[in-house]
Amino acid sequence: MPPRILFVNHAAVIGGAELILLDIAQAFNTSGEVALFSNGPLRERLEEAGVRVHVLKAAPSLHRARRESKIPPLGAVGAALPLIGRLARMARSYDLLYANTQKAFVVASAAGLLARRPVLWHLHDILTPQHFSRNNIRLDVALGNRVARRILAVSQAAALALTEQGGNPDKIFTVHNGIDPQPFKTLSPHDVVRIRSAWVAPGQALLGCFSRLTHWKGQHVVIEAMTRLPEAHLLVAGTDLFGQTAYAEQLQDQVRRLKLGDRVHFLGHRSDVPDLMQAVDIIVHPPVAPEPFGRVVIESMLAGRPLVASREGGTLEVITDEVNGLLFTPGDVAELADKVASLLAHPHRMQTLGQKARSYATSHLSRETMIARVTQHINAVTGKPMASAPPVQNRAEGEPAVLLEGSK
Ligand code: UDP
Repeated sequence: MPPRILFVNHAAVIGGAELILLDIAQAFNTSGEVALFSNGPLRERLEEAGVRVHVLKAAPSLHRARRESKIPPLGAVGAALPLIGRLARMARSYDLLYANTQKAFVVASAAGLLARRPVLWHLHDILTPQHFSRNNIRLDVALGNRVARRILAVSQAAALALTEQGGNPDKIFTVHNGIDPQPFKTLSPHDVVRIRSAWVAPGQALLGCFSRLTHWKGQHVVIEAMTRLPEAHLLVAGTDLFGQTAYAEQLQDQVRRLKLGDRVHFLGHRSDVPDLMQAVDIIVHPPVAPEPFGRVVIESMLAGRPLVASREGGTLEVITDEVNGLLFTPGDVAELADKVASLLAHPHRMQTLGQKARSYATSHLSRETMIARVTQHINAVTGKPMASAPPVQNRAEGEPAVLLEGSK
């Protein structure tokens, strides 16, 4: 019998961690189900993928609790208690609780203790004071060390941040995100021209930035850089997924103040990111705090477009400066603008960087490799092998180490 897995995710929006969960839960849909703490588009996407979903609605105070809050609001603690009880009762029918977000991990840890079920934490975040309050970090580290059987970090940067905060390295394993390359190979030159024509005339440069709108993702940096790139246009795809409307408004104000309204195009949330990525000349990923392991980095690589990204976090594990992308100092507007301008002036270089990026991502960052590695860890925790674990690709020379052993 394959292990029965209950995947737990607090949000039902479509963020990067949720898209990864979608792929993993779909791979395990004969023996795994998903519990969400709210209803939303993720539920529909999971059900379309053949995954059974349970919505355990939590009081709004739990969702309002921010990871950067110094003290968890009493309302959030009160909202968590009944949720823990319900999850613990459900957990008895499963062999494993698989927590996919930080809030889900806190609730699943308590439920796992009550139901005496193992908990695995898929860590999509960098646990540093830039992203989380100290109290939240302390709680996560304590639960990680005492309750989690294994912690799968999306990058070595995320694994290292957790160990630096006191996480037990024997439990932490790096499993890089992986993406299905198929949607990134579809666009014909005719389609590229058609898509671009909505914003630029032939010969004009088009840049793209594809992330939710929140300060640490750094869209303000690339918008500022546009003042130094007078001929170029910029597509900003994404919304304020977790209700951070102030930053989205700040970006609109910035564009008005800098008189960039005719060259910076806010697209809102798009469901055609693979097409848009293939249609732009350069993709910019400008976080101002360490990026755990952005899916957009892998997607840009698969799109075969040159990526100019902040020199931070998990990005450094797959992008080698001047080889398969360009890196710039986080927040350095002048450096970003210079690198983009120099690339635009050298189309052949853009092509070479894009091709190298695509071939690296295709061979090293596949969805199948990620699922195979996750399967190994689920098997190790439950002691029950999955019937159809996909094969693991061999590690190629030059590939950044993906730690399958304890990372100490
Ligand atoms: N994305 C999308 N539509 C948009 C902007 C982004 O579908 O308009 C997707 C993007 O393609 C990526 C995901 O949202 O797959 C974001 O994941 P990532 O890991 O880069 O960032 P996160 O939001 O999880 O920090």
